[in-house]
Amino acid sequence: MSEETKQARSKGLHLEELLLFEIDSDACGVDMDEPEDFTPRLGGLQRKDAIGLPGLSEPQVMRHYSRLARQNYSIDDGIYPLGSCTMKHNPRLNEKMARLPGFADIHPLQPVSSVPGALRLMEALSEKLRLLTGMPAIAMTPRAGAHGELCGMMAIRSALESRGGEAAGRKRILAPESAHGTNPATAAMLGFEVDPIRATSRGEIDFEELRSKLDSSVAAIMITNPNTCGLFETQMIEIADAIHDVGGYLYCDGANFNAILGRVRPGDLGVDAMHINLHKTFSTPHGGGGPGAGPVALSERLASFAPLPCVLSTQDGLRLIETQADAHEHGASPFGRLGAFHGQMGMFTRALTYILSHGGDGLRQVSGDAVLNANYVRASLQDVLEVAFDRICMHEALFSDGTLQADGVSTLDFAKAMIDRGVHPMTMYFPLVVHGAMLIEPTESESKASLDSFISLMRELAQSSAEDKKAFAKAPLHAPRKRLDETKAARKPVLSWRG
Ligand SMILES: *Cc1c(COP(=O)(O)O)cnc(C)c1O
Repeated sequence: MSEETKQARSKGLHLEELLLFEIDSDACGVDMDEPEDFTPRLGGLQRKDAIGLPGLSEPQVMRHYSRLARQNYSIDDGIYPLGSCTMKHNPRLNEKMARLPGFADIHPLQPVSSVPGALRLMEALSEKLRLLTGMPAIAMTPRAGAHGELCGMMAIRSALESRGGEAAGRKRILAPESAHGTNPATAAMLGFEVDPIRATSRGEIDFEELRSKLDSSVAAIMITNPNTCGLFETQMIEIADAIHDVGGYLYCDGANFNAILGRVRPGDLGVDAMHINLHKTFSTPHGGGGPGAGPVALSERLASFAPLPCVLSTQDGLRLIETQADAHEHGASPFGRLGAFHGQMGMFTRALTYILSHGGDGLRQVSGDAVLNANYVRASLQDVLEVAFDRICMHEALFSDGTLQADGVSTLDFAKAMIDRGVHPMTMYFPLVVHGAMLIEPTESESKASLDSFISLMRELAQSSAEDKKAFAKAPLHAPRKRLDETKAARKPVLSWRG
């Protein structure tokens, strides 16, 4: 972008921004002496040309990032109704606790004897998660939900291998068609084969079809509950019994735990492994790729396979177990190690703060309010947008493009029109089982006033789609970027600033 384009595009206080490489000047933020003559010790491999980094002064760098930050939309700006993502308010108390130097400034390689408080915090969080899930063990190290899936499925694979015989050869994983993409991806990554199961017209797993597919070749079923249509799988216990009867395991994708927190313990439903997205349910900030944390709750049958490192409560107090040998001495047989260190300490601190500051009654209210808010949105929009399943939903409301399509407006057009009105769009085109899906998750942290404002905007847009589909096709008019060619961006990514 040229300086002229930048100036032309900056309007009001909406500032266009050049790339760091385009701002490049000869400035330098530091003033260092020329090195004295020295003999390089790189064996002739040292760089011969300039490194090509932009030269910038500190104020130039500060303004660059500050301007970029202003282009960001966050939960602190307004409602962020992305379904399946649980974009709730991040309480500032969590941030305060995470910044306490005793937590913020420790290093994963410092002696264990110098960080007993960190071990206690990890154990305290694990204990609360055990209580909330009704499951006996928590693997703390996974860095995200998808990583947690990998962890849980590796524990399942190890359990099957340790049983030996026919169990070790089981390759099939059953997963509903509406599953989040990470479920089949995880299974495939571990060498399993994924066999999809259809949904019924009520939006739940077709139990008859599932039962017809069950035999001793099935390693596990992966189910999301509440599912990605925002509905509770009412036959969960029957499903658990059926898979256990053929010697398989039940993996539950716990991304939607926010809807049942403090009300349902997945362990009571027969779940063997379930990841918990701390960054969804327990309010730690997320977006833009991280950081997240995806601890995995494990049943009695899988607990001993939890990965290293782990914190164990022993007679001598809490111990950090780092090696297989040490684990074996304590009766565990970890499937291995998932990452270098112990997990996302900052997220652990925030999640535990969230849990303690809410208390048991507060956490129950979280799920109650989340479900109430979603049903308020569903009921307030159902005469202008087509609900995908006409029944009470859990923490998210799912609509199809039925009425919009009739007006010649697509889900994408609708989302772009929302941007023009200053509202972040909902999740689009997911789950795949619903045509032109619009998945709205308000979360419990939106007030009634904020929901009413969102609803009135959505109603206005839905009603105007019948009159003026052309306007929708042109949206967004006011965003700094219009309709990007996302397919081209994915297929032919331009990764160098020179183009
Ligand atoms: C968010 C989500 C995941 C993946 O979690 P990440 O933390 O983003 O890796 C998996 N399944 C469902 C249903 C989700 O909503």
